[in-house]
Amino acid sequence: MRQKIVAGNWKMHKNAEETEDLLNALIDKLPTDVEAQFIVAPTFVNLASAVQHLEFTNISVAAQNMHQAEAGAFTGEISADMLKSVGVETVILGHSERRSYFGETDSLIADKTTTALKHDMTVIFCFGEELKDRKDGKHFNIVENQLRDGLFHVQAKDWERIVLAYEPVWAIGTGETATPEQAQEMHQFIRDVVRNQFGNNVADDVSILYGGSVKPENAKEIFSKPDVDGGLIGGASLKADDFAAIASAI
Ligand code: 13P
Repeated sequence: MRQKIVAGNWKMHKNAEETEDLLNALIDKLPTDVEAQFIVAPTFVNLASAVQHLEFTNISVAAQNMHQAEAGAFTGEISADMLKSVGVETVILGHSERRSYFGETDSLIADKTTTALKHDMTVIFCFGEELKDRKDGKHFNIVENQLRDGLFHVQAKDWERIVLAYEPVWAIGTGETATPEQAQEMHQFIRDVVRNQFGNNVADDVSILYGGSVKPENAKEIFSKPDVDGGLIGGASLKADDFAAIASAI
């Protein structure tokens, strides 16, 4: 079911105490009267406590990454089963920082997606072009390839647990946001790619979030576009007032 979603990707920020403080502030400040899903993604070490803290609230918890294997000798890694065992049902996969700093490829992200879906998790699948791609006029091609190589293997019935997050790399943490028109143009293209491959039901039902320098000042206009179903927020999700203002703009 297509839903409005505002998700905060905390990246490598907030220790245990800071996590608790921010969660308390969000419980106070996030709107309770809007038809939207709110998600926060703290670091791995704070996931279990965040799940407990947010029980009986309208905020759910996502992990920022996971390993594709079920278990094994993979020092430092975290499995889907481990996430589920502490109550985490959603995972962000394919973030551009995972792709660029940790060498994650489309095929690795496809494998991670398969594993997450096998464990009945929801996947927030991130993708988007770099600045040079856009300057070269290749952004539609790049985005289509990322979707094909990362998600075309997913069966239509499993798409109800896929959320797409279009995050143009040039807009992440740069203060430079895609214009609402650029976001709408790409989101519509993305929905058409999904439609061509999986049909109307999947395309009409999938939620497509925009990410990249979303702030209280620009959220409303971006969210007002017909194919933008919400946002994946980085920097502004670390301040309760900003995240609450963005959430209220949905
Ligand atoms: P910023 O909102 O800080 O640009 O980050 C976006 C992002 O990467 C969310 O995953």
